[in-house]
Amino acid sequence: MPLEEIGWLRRGACRSSDPELFFPLAPSPVQEARAKAVCATCQVLTECRSYALKAGEADGIWGGLTPEERRRSRVPEGVRRPAAS
Ligand code: SF4
Repeated sequence: MPLEEIGWLRRGACRSSDPELFFPLAPSPVQEARAKAVCATCQVLTECRSYALKAGEADGIWGGLTPEERRRSRVPEGVRRPAAS
């Protein structure tokens, strides 16, 4: 990814946060909530979320979304139903 496409990252509220908060080895609801609280204050949340969805970032909190939330947002609503057993 060219640097000019992710230049917004330099203005991210997470720049001064512990990377483990956004890329934990063992994710937990508390860690996710703390990371999302940082994202909620971030001036580049929209750019970050858009990038992560477009790039298919599989790990970590990006733009206030967990990996599972990003996966769900990429799948059309009608396709999300569990398969019949
Ligand atoms: S939205 Fe969250 S992950 Fe993205 S740059 Fe801002 S603080 Fe970091």
